[in-house]
Amino acid sequence: MPVTDAAIPVTDSGYRRSDVTYDVVGVWQGAFFRLDDHINRFRTSMNSLRMTPPESDAQIKAILNRLVAMACLREAYVAMDCLRAAPPPGKTRHPSNCRSYLSCYAIPWVSVATPEMFARGLHLIIPKARRIPTESVDPTVKNFHWGDFTRGLIEAEDTGADYPVLLDFDDNVTEGSGFNVFCIIDGKVICPARGALEGVTRASVLEMCAELGIPTEVRDIHADEFRDSDEIFASTTAGGIMPASRIDGRIMNNDRPGPISARLKDLFWAKRAEGWHATSVDYSVATTGDSAP
Ligand code: PLP
Repeated sequence: MPVTDAAIPVTDSGYRRSDVTYDVVGVWQGAFFRLDDHINRFRTSMNSLRMTPPESDAQIKAILNRLVAMACLREAYVAMDCLRAAPPPGKTRHPSNCRSYLSCYAIPWVSVATPEMFARGLHLIIPKARRIPTESVDPTVKNFHWGDFTRGLIEAEDTGADYPVLLDFDDNVTEGSGFNVFCIIDGKVICPARGALEGVTRASVLEMCAELGIPTEVRDIHADEFRDSDEIFASTTAGGIMPASRIDGRIMNNDRPGPISARLKDLFWAKRAEGWHATSVDYSVATTGDSAP
């Protein structure tokens, strides 16, 4: 159905209690990027929340393929959500009483960064709002608990910045509103070891660094170290690699994307164009209607 016609019951916990997990896979030049990695993360998230929709992984992949084919998209943002329904009449709200179900859609490609932001580099801030503790909400289970990010986004807007990067309660960097973060110090590419989603784009960055012989570290990054670093960039499905040029008003690299960040970004898209981790969309199913695996 047209995405604007899609609806969910407003009484479902998936909506009313944020009792939902999701994933997003990108399609570029007619191919999914790292489809199996996204499906595996989605399945792990659903298992963690004890959600058991009837579809197998192969069926979910077929559904996503069909959505992209029917929407005739060569570049797409493809979302898969798993929501918990309301309990049947007379039953309590315990998760085991409620069925879970999928809601998937494909829309034209979405990017966190605008062309202007890519050209000048992102302007980031570390807001007062802290990331929800991992003991409360597991950040590796992709979720809609965006209260902390929304507060950070409001603060970013108030200070004229683009996006917030949140700290944990030990003053270590976690992640931004919809993206992982990296900093570069003395030629080493560093990203937080905990408190963040294990991003598929982040994994791609670490693979590219290994290929280029750029040293990497996955460890805690204190806010002061992050603010003083040589370069910073963000990574996400919806945008790829997004270099920053300002952090809390401090200007880096003459107010432009740093050289190593820019190199990684260029290599990322060059490799994507060559079919790196690509699964071609089968557009024939749009007309045959055959989506069964
Ligand atoms: N962190 C958060 C909170 C996100 O929402 C996202 C993506 O939406 C990411 C990180 C980046 O993950 P990925 O590279 O798998 O898209």
